[in-house]
Amino acid sequence: MPDKKVDLQWTPIHKDMTKDGIRLSFQVNREYTLAKDQYTATAYDNFLALSIALRDRLVERWIVTQQEYHRKNKKRVYYLSMEFLIGRLLGNNIINLGCEKESKDALDDLGLELDELREQEVDAGLGNGGLGRLAACFLDSMATLGIPAHGYGIRYDYGIFNQKIQNGYQLEKPDEWLKLKNPWEFARPEYALAVHFYGRTQNYQDRNGKPCIAWVDTQNILAMPYDIPIPGYCNDIVNTLRLWSARSSEEFDFEYFNDGDYEKAVYQKMFSENISKVLYPNDGVSQGRELRLKQEYFFTAAAIADIIRRFKAENTNLTDLPKKAVIQLNDTHPALAIVELMRILVDMEQLEWEAAWNIVTKTFAYTNHTLMPEALECWTVPLFEKVLPRHLQIVYEINFRFLKEVANYFPGDNERLSRMSLIEEGNPKRIRMAHLCIVGSFSINGVSVLHSNLLKINLFKDFYEYEPGKFNNKTNGITQRRWLLKANTRLSKLVSDTIGNEWIKNLDYLEKLTAYAKKSDFVKQWQDVKMQNKMFLANYIEKTMQIVVNPESLFDVQIKRIHEYKRQLLFSLFIIAEYLKLKHDPQKFQIQRTFILAGKAAPGYFIAKLIIKFINSIADVINHDKGVKDRLKVIFMENYRVSLAEKIFPASELSEQISTAGTEASGTGNMKFMLNGALTIGTLDGANIEIAEAVGNENMFIFGLRTEEVEAKKNRDILRKNTSIIIQSYAKFSI
Ligand SMILES: *Cc1c(COP(=O)(O)O)cnc(C)c1O
Repeated sequence: MPDKKVDLQWTPIHKDMTKDGIRLSFQVNREYTLAKDQYTATAYDNFLALSIALRDRLVERWIVTQQEYHRKNKKRVYYLSMEFLIGRLLGNNIINLGCEKESKDALDDLGLELDELREQEVDAGLGNGGLGRLAACFLDSMATLGIPAHGYGIRYDYGIFNQKIQNGYQLEKPDEWLKLKNPWEFARPEYALAVHFYGRTQNYQDRNGKPCIAWVDTQNILAMPYDIPIPGYCNDIVNTLRLWSARSSEEFDFEYFNDGDYEKAVYQKMFSENISKVLYPNDGVSQGRELRLKQEYFFTAAAIADIIRRFKAENTNLTDLPKKAVIQLNDTHPALAIVELMRILVDMEQLEWEAAWNIVTKTFAYTNHTLMPEALECWTVPLFEKVLPRHLQIVYEINFRFLKEVANYFPGDNERLSRMSLIEEGNPKRIRMAHLCIVGSFSINGVSVLHSNLLKINLFKDFYEYEPGKFNNKTNGITQRRWLLKANTRLSKLVSDTIGNEWIKNLDYLEKLTAYAKKSDFVKQWQDVKMQNKMFLANYIEKTMQIVVNPESLFDVQIKRIHEYKRQLLFSLFIIAEYLKLKHDPQKFQIQRTFILAGKAAPGYFIAKLIIKFINSIADVINHDKGVKDRLKVIFMENYRVSLAEKIFPASELSEQISTAGTEASGTGNMKFMLNGALTIGTLDGANIEIAEAVGNENMFIFGLRTEEVEAKKNRDILRKNTSIIIQSYAKFSI
């Protein structure tokens, strides 16, 4: 029901996008929301006061956008992801609201600086690397395109750990990102819902004598949603990222209280809230832990319940769900959504199996992110059965019906059946989550042309032969709003001054720059921008690491998670080779270089951590060699994260994308470098191939084996043999 018109004449100050309006909001927030004045406010308080001022302006647009989606009963995109590597939001939100100048001026009136306030914000590090950052970039792009999209994920109390380097080694520190108030989230206890675990199944007959199955004696945990507004770029659209936090449910606690077992009640409360406590820090590795399975089911079940609640508020017949919702699975982590939707439709809504399956398989789409065997999620049947007994039955039923159809299509091919089964035989049996995703989705995509083709000929060959029409490619991307407009203000300004600002919404416009590639004054300005960015980074390095780098040297950069397949080790050997050249054959040493590396290693990944120590040992030797002067430096920057990435990309000149061909599904770091005017040296892997096609082979330094050549060599078993011995000896290099 619309609000009654009231006679009150009030001017909502948060509508006001002028400098004065923003300043007034800032002052009101600082005084009344934070109870501070200009003397007592900390820098973080000032960050909060400005963020809340902008948040108010987002909220207005947010409410209108959501009302509009509801009124028009729009089809929604639901993006389910275990990870959203968002980073900071203040700078991005100011840009997308289109009030950067007004905000700067408002702060200027108060003697404050926007840059300084931005630096106060703690990164939302709710992801490991590329997969999580992709999810964050998609949210920005969908809002900018006006797509009615909702992100669903987990509000981890602790995101990806903070990395410290001590004595050359990585140390992990907890990421207490919520210690200070987070201005961007809204708790929505009114939408909290129960998620069930454990228990058992029970057969019964409904009133008409139809056999049904109930899931009973479960342990219940409350999923509490926190909403974050996601604005599009200057289009007044604001979408929602809904992150779920685990709370112990009351009913469940009281049972123990009633039994007088206080300690157990408290313990259970702690235990249930553990579910959203911490992000697993392994990039692309599945360890099969029970808590991880519970995390996956927790947010997935909450999302499905929320999606159905919204659908029912706007529609009557669940068979229309595929017309009103599409659910994109970011890797197999949210794969249980397929099973959960079946459970809701069959057990709760009493639909026939075929009708339910028909809805499900028209609603889901699945993105595969890697070919690496260690990343393919498989859950052992005993664990799965313990945590989700009803879901196991449903998985078996899906599999039974699926294999029957495959057997009809390929009669007599039993080996194919066992390869395609959702259940891997063995002791214990395991559930193949990728197979579940393929069978339950209408679309399956890889993340670069090469990767999508490899899926068809290797990992998912049988499935491709069975249903080729399901398979497609969606090469990963990045949003230029964050990775150029926000991260590199100098280059953005030069580009906009030269070709206009349409590129901010449509990146194809950048092509107009080719006309300026040979114009000397443009080239000069381009070089000035790069030099200023390099000086800025050099300054930051000096301030944070007390190492002076030469801004005239080539900034040669590899920043990404530390992984053997990404080959930081190969890069390290190149650095040593350059150093030796300088020492023993100075004639041959030509280019002054600053090698810049950054990246986190999974805490249990021994070799990756040793590679970090190795790099720091090399840095120790080279940076302390008086004979080297400023011709070579090696900088390992601590705690790689989105906000640090934003400082490094603009200053980079050479981008190292040197993974073994056939291993990096796409890469998105490669794109951020390109967008910031760095040249690429790399292998024909992932999206590097498409980048090379776009910029022309002559504008990229391609080296190394191609995928097929790697395969051939692997068969001769000469790769990776002595890695650990080599590193261990080099790790002692500095001693
Ligand atoms: C882009 C990005 C990544 C992914 O980098 P790749 O080079 O594609 O592996 C990882 N972490 C952060 C913080 C990023 O911004």
